[in-house]
Amino acid sequence: MRSYDSPIRVVSMYPDIMNTYSDRGNLLAIQYRALQLGIKIVLEEVSLGDPFPAQCDLVLIGGGQDQEQKRIATDLKIKTSQLQAWAEDDVSILAVCGGFQLFGNWYRDIQGNYLEGVKIFDMTTIAPRIKNFRAVGDIWVTSRIEDVGEVVGFENHAGQSYLGAKASSFASVRYGKGNNGIDKTEGAIYRNAIGTYLHGSVLPKNPRLLDYLLANALSHRYNEDLKPYFSSHSPFVLQAQNAAMDVTRKKSEKNDV
Ligand code: GLN
Repeated sequence: MRSYDSPIRVVSMYPDIMNTYSDRGNLLAIQYRALQLGIKIVLEEVSLGDPFPAQCDLVLIGGGQDQEQKRIATDLKIKTSQLQAWAEDDVSILAVCGGFQLFGNWYRDIQGNYLEGVKIFDMTTIAPRIKNFRAVGDIWVTSRIEDVGEVVGFENHAGQSYLGAKASSFASVRYGKGNNGIDKTEGAIYRNAIGTYLHGSVLPKNPRLLDYLLANALSHRYNEDLKPYFSSHSPFVLQAQNAAMDVTRKKSEKNDV
């Protein structure tokens, strides 16, 4: 098996604040899979006031309640131009729920606060003033990224996200609400950046998404397409995803009764 001597640089953003539903599990999954494949990692945990490292191959940001999103909004503005540059340079990015919302154009939260976004995704998010919408529950989506396929997880958000003309959805909803509970889109993609509402955390249960993100990070580090080096997963590793699919399938059939 090929050796990967140069480590990939992973930036975990606001791990102490943006960690709803233990989205930190996404970092643990990346670390475990990298160990399995003999890929070294240099990890930078970047929170309020911390500088970014000079180089980066993978950015992770988790979800957060409205008050946590307000806490990071000013600091995120300072970090916006570097994040935009990394996105344009095909750095691998995973932004989950509250993090996803703030990687769009703007987010108006349930109190009516207007939070400027990083503008990686052409997407806007509005939380209803009257508490009449909240997407909560299991979710199963089919990604438009062929290497990723089916993705399962859990969602809990009041914000309803709408994709602009320059955005592509990450997936289509098979079961659950997704971006807004109306247009059956879920998440957004831009180059190697993926935004999604799926908590879980999403990577341990979805090994093909995990490998897609890690392969893009490795390809960015070595400046060559290394996706072919990622083999398919053993049936054991897909068990968690299959079990989660069964749960949503049974709930979906029950709801359709
Ligand atoms: N605060 C945002 C909302 O309610 C995001 C929540 C989250 O990250 N789970 O839509």
